Amino acid sequence: MGVRGAVPLGSRTFYARYPFLPGATTSLGSLAPSSRELVESPLFEGARGLGRARVLQALAGPPAGRDLPEVGDADEVARVLSFPFAALLVSLLPGSGPARRWARREALRLREELEGSAVQVEELQTLAHALGRPARRSTSPEPSEGWEVPLPVYLGWSATARGRDLKLVHQRLRHGVVELSRGRLAEWLSEGMLQGLEEVLPLKVEPELRTLLEGRESGFLELARQRLPAREGGPGPVEPERFPPCIRELMKELAAGHNVGHQGRFALAAFLHKVGMEADAIVEAFRGAPNFNEPITRYQVDQIRRHDGGAGYTPPECATLITAGLCRRELDGSPARLCSDPVALKHPLNYYRRARTRPRTNAPGGAGRT
Ligand code: SF4
Repeated sequence: MGVRGAVPLGSRTFYARYPFLPGATTSLGSLAPSSRELVESPLFEGARGLGRARVLQALAGPPAGRDLPEVGDADEVARVLSFPFAALLVSLLPGSGPARRWARREALRLREELEGSAVQVEELQTLAHALGRPARRSTSPEPSEGWEVPLPVYLGWSATARGRDLKLVHQRLRHGVVELSRGRLAEWLSEGMLQGLEEVLPLKVEPELRTLLEGRESGFLELARQRLPAREGGPGPVEPERFPPCIRELMKELAAGHNVGHQGRFALAAFLHKVGMEADAIVEAFRGAPNFNEPITRYQVDQIRRHDGGAGYTPPECATLITAGLCRRELDGSPARLCSDPVALKHPLNYYRRARTRPRTNAPGGAGRT
């Protein structure tokens, strides 16, 4: 990439390059949408598509590739608006982990871009100014790192930075200013951008907007949830050997051709969906039932999966399963005897989550068994 022309702060082109800055959306003037318009107007489908791509890239694991090709192809309006749309999407995913990962990915993208030679010196200065932390080219006649930042200004971000390289002890100080190389300046600015994002994420999404977004983006949100690691509320790979005994018994009963009542079927389908099983695999779990009817089963499974904007129904808790006679805690073979106190355990999903934190063993009969 060649050197690109520096653009003034406040221009749409500037904000398309740095859409995380305050004022980015208002720079669009009459094209600036309300949150509702951003979520549902056909005018902004390009921005929504790019926003989804930003989120999926962040959830894809260790960063690979310098940028999203989609960013370069998109028009300026889409580039600006994809950022707040992505922020909305990650705010609907479980916990704060997805939002943090997205913020880190965006910060890394910024750092890589600023380290490159395509960004002119004037633009770096403008960006630092827009972030509220002025930085300037060194004017010292002595050999210098190239950039300088007043010490109190530098400490604003570096004091809480996680990366060791930004700690003051690793910088060169001269007459109250911190000298920075171009690479260190890029790291410092992206750290500032990251800290700013982490302060506001996940966004507090108003209930009405949340409902709208969950309905319109249910497919995407489900896809994103499937990509979350288990520790961030995602299902991870399904591990049936770690299912609680009540669920294992329901599966065994069906596989043996025995009838299972409505409550048991619902508990099983909702549990399998929540742990990340695909619809086809859930339907398969019911194939042995004496009155199995594939279209009806598929319809019922879809109803359970699509509930609440794709989040799905939550399976009944232990107390309900005990009352229904579906608890099989006497069969719990997990090393930690997770079912021994159903009140404390509370939920079959808790059994699965805890069982998955334990190393696999070859011990017979329960969680951890391979
Ligand atoms: S205690 Fe809970 S998880 Fe364990 S078998 Fe009973 S209902 Fe299932």
